[in-house]
Amino acid sequence: TTKQRLLIVANRLPVSATRKGVDSWQLEISAGGLVSAMLGVREFDARWIGWAGVNVPDEVGQKTLTKALAEKRCIPIFLDEEIVHQYYNGYCNNVLWPLFHYLGLPQEDRLDTTRSFQSQFDAYKRANQMFADVVYKHYEEGDVVWCQDYHLMFLPKCLKEHDAKMKVGWFLHTPFPSSEIYRTLPCRTELLRSVLAADLVGFHTYDYARHFVSACTRILGLEGTPEGVEDHGRLIRVAAFPIGIDSERFIRALELPQVKDHIKELKEKFAGRKVMLGVDRLDMIKGIPQKILAFENFLEENPDWRDEVVLIQIAVPTRTDVPKYQELASHVHEIVARINGRFGTLTAVPIHHLDRSLDFHALCALYAVTDVALVTSLRDGMNLVSYEYVACQASKKGVLILSEFAGAAQSLGAGAVLVNPWNITEVSASIAYALNMPADEREKRHQFNFKHVTTHTSQEWAATFVSELNDTIVEAQLRR
Ligand code: UDP
Repeated sequence: TTKQRLLIVANRLPVSATRKGVDSWQLEISAGGLVSAMLGVREFDARWIGWAGVNVPDEVGQKTLTKALAEKRCIPIFLDEEIVHQYYNGYCNNVLWPLFHYLGLPQEDRLDTTRSFQSQFDAYKRANQMFADVVYKHYEEGDVVWCQDYHLMFLPKCLKEHDAKMKVGWFLHTPFPSSEIYRTLPCRTELLRSVLAADLVGFHTYDYARHFVSACTRILGLEGTPEGVEDHGRLIRVAAFPIGIDSERFIRALELPQVKDHIKELKEKFAGRKVMLGVDRLDMIKGIPQKILAFENFLEENPDWRDEVVLIQIAVPTRTDVPKYQELASHVHEIVARINGRFGTLTAVPIHHLDRSLDFHALCALYAVTDVALVTSLRDGMNLVSYEYVACQASKKGVLILSEFAGAAQSLGAGAVLVNPWNITEVSASIAYALNMPADEREKRHQFNFKHVTTHTSQEWAATFVSELNDTIVEAQLRR
């Protein structure tokens, strides 16, 4: 049988393009949660539609890039600088991202910034319409169209207006906040209505799905059912589909000679010390200052550990042109410098803080040598780093300290040590608990999580979502 065609529509393509000449391009697979997950989708004849992350104003450039991307089964959307500024930096990253992570809407003190809020929403809709136009061009009857994330909440409506028979799913990779938070959004009704044009609406956890259904009942006055939302006899299915990782890819990587060498090197470098690890994009939601302060508290209260433990924090730069992110970076640097000044010696410092990303193999080696991973997100849709760490711990059986505000807490809660990241003394006590944990307890906790991570994979996640979407449509036809 031939595979079903799947059009994955996401803001960013899984490859980044860099221009090397008038008509030549260098393509590179880019990092990130969704990208890692989608690398594992093999059941479908999948193509990607999205933005390549570059401004290409000229026709030659657009043509040659389209051709280069086609080999990677990618179809580009061309967004100019102004629309990227208003739609992506503006509405997506400055409005929806903080709101969905409970940081509230941006505070405005002048009427003209409020007007720019409206113009950002207009650009958001325009951008979503541009995505829709490209989807129509490549759509064939029977295709499944899967819209990804908060960037494309307006897309389901555009697609269904064009062709009511199109099979459309939408999945949110961030939390969906309590309806009490969501209802502050000025365009709350229009966005909900548009998402409800989809046949299936998916979230990482039951809580997020429930929040979405509550928003629909309270703001739109629709009826919530155990299956989803009912709108004048039409059922929109709403459900939880927790994402996973391609765990095999990580397990295989640990067997490669260069990764093994790297593991040996790291072990020698940190001999005599327990290794603690944080891997995050440098984002407000990751609770990096809270994590580092908890580590300071731990060192303060446990002088015996000062020479015996090191915290490696990988802070991947993100949205570096946004002032709030620049402020966060300096804030983190300041705390790290203070703590290293306070507890460092002539030959060693307690915190190794890196402002950069690591390549896949280096990351795997680091996961493998870590004794305690520390995930302290204040809010996080899922958090794949926690899954990846577990996948790389088959021999060491290290401990995962995990924020209860990460979606992953719903699935890895029984094996991890759960913490409230705002409670610095609790996190500090959990660090002590994790570092002193007896081997049999570590083993038991690890086995639980390892089993979960290796059975709930990204492949399975995608397959489940698409088959649920197909089923939903069959059921809707039967009801008619
Ligand atoms: N990652 C990476 N290189 C790095 C650090 C992280 O490729 O140096 C990847 C990591 O493997 C993971 C993703 O970035 O797949 C982060 O996903 P997560 O869900 O934890 O957080 P997000 O960044 O999506 O908020």
